[in-house]
Amino acid sequence: MLYNQVVVAYQEIASTTSRTRMSNVLVALLRATPLELLPRLVYLTQGKLHPEFEAIEIGMAERLALRAVAAASGRPEQEIRADLSRRGDLGATAEHLLQGADRAPTLTVDEVYDGLDAIAHTAGRGSVGAKVETLVALLCRATPAEAGYLIRTATGKLRLGVADMTLLDALTIAQTGSTESRPIVERAYNLCSDLGAVAVALTRDGTTLLESFHPEPFRPIRPMLAERLKDPREILAKLGGRCAAEYKYDGERLQIHKRGAEVRIFSRRIEPITAQYPDAVDLTLAGLAVESAIFEAEAVARDPDTDELLPFQDLMRRKRVHAVAEAARELPVSLIAFDLLYLDGTDLTRLPYAERRVRLDRVVKAGPRFQPSEREIVASVPELTAFFDLAVSAGTEGLVCKSLAPDALYQAGSRGWLWIKFKREYVSEMTDTVDLVVVGALHGRGRRAGTYGSLLVAAYDPAADVFRTVTKVGSGFSDAELASLPRRLAPLAIPHAHPRVDAKLAADTWFVPSVVVEVIGAEVTLSPIHTAALGRFRSGSGLAIRFPRFTGRWRDDKAPEDATTVDELAEMYQQRKAS
Ligand code: AMP
Repeated sequence: MLYNQVVVAYQEIASTTSRTRMSNVLVALLRATPLELLPRLVYLTQGKLHPEFEAIEIGMAERLALRAVAAASGRPEQEIRADLSRRGDLGATAEHLLQGADRAPTLTVDEVYDGLDAIAHTAGRGSVGAKVETLVALLCRATPAEAGYLIRTATGKLRLGVADMTLLDALTIAQTGSTESRPIVERAYNLCSDLGAVAVALTRDGTTLLESFHPEPFRPIRPMLAERLKDPREILAKLGGRCAAEYKYDGERLQIHKRGAEVRIFSRRIEPITAQYPDAVDLTLAGLAVESAIFEAEAVARDPDTDELLPFQDLMRRKRVHAVAEAARELPVSLIAFDLLYLDGTDLTRLPYAERRVRLDRVVKAGPRFQPSEREIVASVPELTAFFDLAVSAGTEGLVCKSLAPDALYQAGSRGWLWIKFKREYVSEMTDTVDLVVVGALHGRGRRAGTYGSLLVAAYDPAADVFRTVTKVGSGFSDAELASLPRRLAPLAIPHAHPRVDAKLAADTWFVPSVVVEVIGAEVTLSPIHTAALGRFRSGSGLAIRFPRFTGRWRDDKAPEDATTVDELAEMYQQRKAS
């Protein structure tokens, strides 16, 4: 097929203002394209050479393309530059300055594609000269109009405005005569994110093949998205009175593909991000004993010493650091798997959530840094809200409530009511520090072996003369402070909770309430595992401090009875503020 045929279509698309005309031109072009050329034509028409997820850009610098135009036209670069500044489009400049060359079109689509692909793949020493040479060779055989489109494509500025959805429509019409089968075609696209592959399947086998179109490792699936509701009653009503509530982890969504010993990771926007997550690759290889799989997980950061979930910002900070390997050592990610879409040759996207989840639980070899998401089947508002409180106090954003219906399939690429987000609506942000009493401690691991991983701290309830727990603090201690903790606290250690301490959590060591520490947190929330103001705001839940951090100040000047009171915390909680 001659490139010229494509260029004529592009010219028509560029000059029309009619959506129908644009569609007709595309349909005619697609129909005129032989099957084996279809993927190339589809990518070229989008100004690309490969599907987006392969992240191979032609992206030749304009300065180099300009040099190629100068060489091909035999004119000085200055003249090209002057013409470019008049027209503002190097493609138009090339078309104009190569006007003299009155040649018949001979370039084929394959030749153009291969040339551009060679440019995209040329790298390293001497690559600049080689790229320019390849482009010059193409320009020297091009008609003026072809030269214009070659330059636009090479510099990544084709800009025909043909989006994925426009092409999906045109492909459907080209093959079936109408847009009726468009949902089937779109589903196939959502399962592979590759328009070229869809074009071939549709043309070769019609819509019958697409109905059984399967996901495949290393072709990312467009992610299923969640709707949002504020009221637990409405959520349950939407989901038929019963649902699976899963913690909504606050990290980065990863779609992880494995085949044999190879793992590739895609972002929510289906970009390849394997290189950013060497530790997630290792976790997958170690924790997933299957030949091939596609699963989704949230990558979260945990405090390496205390195991507590860290805020999303901490994970993002790691991404900005250049030395990924080093960052991965300092702040390793944990994977929380929440869906399984493909397993050893079988497409699971057509199975209901409940069955996908059973398989997910079966294949994940859970370890400290790789687990399926926490979840519970709930069938009433109190159950749902209690689990929500637990989720928030565990450092997550809330819940994703998932349909247990038999038709709750994985809806690739769409936002629907099979998944409903239930997020914290109100937060009472902490602007002040609080002074809390150390009542217990949990053993440390890793770097903190031999000392405490976190301290269980409590607020004072003067009415009952009792200390009620509000959080575990593990962050903010310097190495020296950490090392000194056992020395400081050992004299206070007792084998059981002190009678003046009210705790639901089991500590490894208990202390006589005596030491006061200054703590700052992100906010005061409800939690079913702490006892401060238990039942005051919600049955079964107390108040807790989320993301607590030791400020570095030991309040030796304060007696435990001078610590922040439960009532003060309750007041902070009530100063609610829309998030
Ligand atoms: P949002 O980004 O606010 O639309 O919320 C949906 C996102 O929540 C997904 O894209 C995931 O990244 C994330 N997420 C966290 N935990 C889960 C879970 N258990 N199930 C599904 N999505 C989750």
